Amino acid sequence: MGRIIIPIELRRQRRIRRGVRLEVTLEGDRVVLRRHGPFCVFCDSAEDLRPFRGKHVCYQCIMDAR
Ligand SMILES: [Zn+2]
Repeated sequence: MGRIIIPIELRRQRRIRRGVRLEVTLEGDRVVLRRHGPFCVFCDSAEDLRPFRGKHVCYQCIMDAR
């Protein structure tokens, strides 16, 4: 059960929210974490996404734009 702990400062800085899926890959001697899956183009949320002109926009941003 290999686990990686991401410091809270880094999570805040990179806006990695709880429950966000990360891809783990090895590049040479580096462990690389990348966010997995689509995100809202405006706020980076992964929740309640709707397709919009080939991108993803979350419902909250759609409502905020009205
Ligand atoms: Zn959004």
